[in-house]
Amino acid sequence: EGIVIAIDGPSGSGKSSTAKGVARARELRYLDTGAMYRAMTWWMIQHQVDVADAAAVAARSAEPVITMGTDPEAPTVRVDGTDVARAIRTDEVTGRVSTVSAVPEVRERLVALQRDIIAEARRDAAGIVVEGRDITTVVAPEAPVRLYLTASAQARAVRRSKENRTSDVAATEAALALRDRLDSSRALSPLTQAEDSLELDSSGLSLDEVVALVVKLADE
Ligand code: C5P
Repeated sequence: EGIVIAIDGPSGSGKSSTAKGVARARELRYLDTGAMYRAMTWWMIQHQVDVADAAAVAARSAEPVITMGTDPEAPTVRVDGTDVARAIRTDEVTGRVSTVSAVPEVRERLVALQRDIIAEARRDAAGIVVEGRDITTVVAPEAPVRLYLTASAQARAVRRSKENRTSDVAATEAALALRDRLDSSRALSPLTQAEDSLELDSSGLSLDEVVALVVKLADE
């Protein structure tokens, strides 16, 4: 049976780069669960569903067919067959995803899908690195490696500004803070550090250093 490495943390903490790097280094599969909530949000916007209306979102949450490619060299995300890798990174999706991901029916469906992908990777591959907000607490609480990745608000904003090619670090920091507040305060599966998970602050570390640390943990 393959290994599961679970990584949670706030926006911009370096989860995606770390998870991908570890998956490459250990030849594991890689799952970005945030991309699944973004894909669900993108579909709701496409179908003119009012995302502020939780009942409307819940009623249609079973419709989009979300498929994830878990190769860390070329991860993919498709909705009803359409490649949405770029479409799910717009400000519009980013601004609405926390509202959609707070809807219980959305979480129930995506968590089930995530568990299927994990089970398949454990069966057919050496295992999988899964990153998100509730992986250590809800999706895979039994994972042998459970990590809560953090970084200072400033470090996270600087990183995300570079990714988004914007020089407005203050605005980026404010947007991250708002999303984290929403993700941490929702009723169901809020972002929180699992009691027995290991907290790793990446503020002063390079990506290679963080990846090496996690690989070492997985080898223990
Ligand atoms: O990781 P990323 O920033 O792309 O996640 C987008 C959003 O998806 C988060 O802000 C959060 O609302 C939601 N999410 C979640 N549970 C996860 C992963 C992401 O609720 N496991």
